[in-house]
Amino acid sequence: MSDDKPDAAALLHLRAAGLVKGAPLALPITPASMFRLPGEPEAGVDAYGRMSNPTWVALEEALGHLEGAPVLAFPSGMAAITAALFATLEAGDRLLLPADGYYTPRVLADRFLKGLGITVETRPTTRLAEGGFEGIRAVLIETPSNPGLDLCDLEQITAAIRAAGGVSIVDNTTMTPFGQAPLALGADIVVASDTKAPGGHSDLLMGHVASRDTALLAAMRDWRTMTGSIPGAFDAWLLHRSLETLELRFERMCDTADAIAPRLARHRAVHALSFPGLPDHPQHGLATRQMRRAGFLIGLSLADAATAERFIAACPLIEPTTSFGGVHTTGERRARWGDDVAPGFVRLSVGTEPADALWDAIDRALTDAEDPGGRS
Ligand SMILES: *Cc1c(COP(=O)(O)O)cnc(C)c1O
Repeated sequence: MSDDKPDAAALLHLRAAGLVKGAPLALPITPASMFRLPGEPEAGVDAYGRMSNPTWVALEEALGHLEGAPVLAFPSGMAAITAALFATLEAGDRLLLPADGYYTPRVLADRFLKGLGITVETRPTTRLAEGGFEGIRAVLIETPSNPGLDLCDLEQITAAIRAAGGVSIVDNTTMTPFGQAPLALGADIVVASDTKAPGGHSDLLMGHVASRDTALLAAMRDWRTMTGSIPGAFDAWLLHRSLETLELRFERMCDTADAIAPRLARHRAVHALSFPGLPDHPQHGLATRQMRRAGFLIGLSLADAATAERFIAACPLIEPTTSFGGVHTTGERRARWGDDVAPGFVRLSVGTEPADALWDAIDRALTDAEDPGGRS
């Protein structure tokens, strides 16, 4: 890694340093549409709730500390991605999307951007650099990709995009700032869904963008103010609180994933396994260079769809949900959404349960799923 891990200790004391005697240690929530505004408006003075809010500012300072760059908060990951795309693209531009990453940006591009005169192209994550980036205005990159957990070389690809005159937008949702630092590896914009591990308790949707490019940041702020794509004060406050335990949760989840991935790989019910932390992942070398941790997502392929469904249903410590990154371990057969994966492919999102209890439950459920009559 080309930089240091975000300072989780300083994050916890970021706000407290500025508090007066008697002030609450916890962030007060400020739900407000109107602010007292006599005379002329002034820069830095809250005027109207679509333009600014003190709870967002506190959240953006905490996220900015983790990203090492200015941040803008959005009400979901897709709102953040949309802001990055609309701040970058004009009619006549070419946009390159990952063919295998999170599917909603492709649907958004197809449904709305094409009609505005933007040409949309896709390439698989592992072959993103092939064909070059000449004439492409913006490239969305996702590594590890969701759900396949394929990687691409951020340093090499962001440099090639910049050399060709384009803007690189890196979706860092699967890693969080504790797992990977795309800006330090050359990205122009980081986008993330904080609905996942940063929120972590399955009770909020949020997202953010981070960029050191002041013009891009100003354009994304204008997009937010003018379209009203703004977070609610309560969700911003809840995410701010969740960030205080992100490092703790993320490290625990990654440790547990490291512990159970090799055991899964050896289990006779598992036909294929994708986890960047295992030496037989095709891009394990890149993973160790580019990522601080291997992450908490594991892709495992069982014999077929029915076996995968039986596995998820049989495991009391796997919740059958879509989405990932929460304290509860969750599992989902991604083919049910049309992702280009095998019918028996399960995306496992490792939660914060103790590793031994989780492994025991998974081991039993895998055996039961493979041989449904065997234990009755
Ligand atoms: C979930 C997800 C998003 C979208 O985030 P929302 O908060 O659901 O809008 C974007 N990118 C990736 C990689 C995701 O997993």
